[in-house]
Amino acid sequence: MACIFCEIVNRKAPAEVVYEDEEIIAFKDIHPVAPVHILVVPKRHIDSVEDLKEEDGGLAGKLILTAQKVARQFSIDKSGYKLVFNVGRGGGQIIDHIHLHLIGGWNKNAIRD
Ligand code: AMP
Ligand code: ZN
Repeated sequence: MACIFCEIVNRKAPAEVVYEDEEIIAFKDIHPVAPVHILVVPKRHIDSVEDLKEEDGGLAGKLILTAQKVARQFSIDKSGYKLVFNVGRGGGQIIDHIHLHLIGGWNKNAIRD
């Protein structure tokens, strides 16, 4: 199995890890499209959103809550951010290990109402 994100989880490949717990790891995207671009990844390999099962609901929710936590860590919670799942080739997914993109930091002075 040569999944690059599994290798990052197992510390076989390098990454700039910004958050980790038993179930989830978050690290900086190597080709950032914004000042803050973090990938939030479950440690367990799941190919994509299309492969989530009913019993994965808790884990899926935890990906979003972890993104919220990391957004606070990078001080973009007040200014706002995008959360994106690319799903399948047509949806722009290149790495077949489910991941949530946390993207933001363009204008940290923008304040949410
Ligand atoms: P996606 O198109 O949703 O599959 O996104 C994959 C993302 O992973 C892209 O934004 C890549 O820049 C990023 N990426 C690929 N390899 C690595 C890596 N080794 N470390 C960090 N980010 C990566
Ligand atoms: Zn994997």
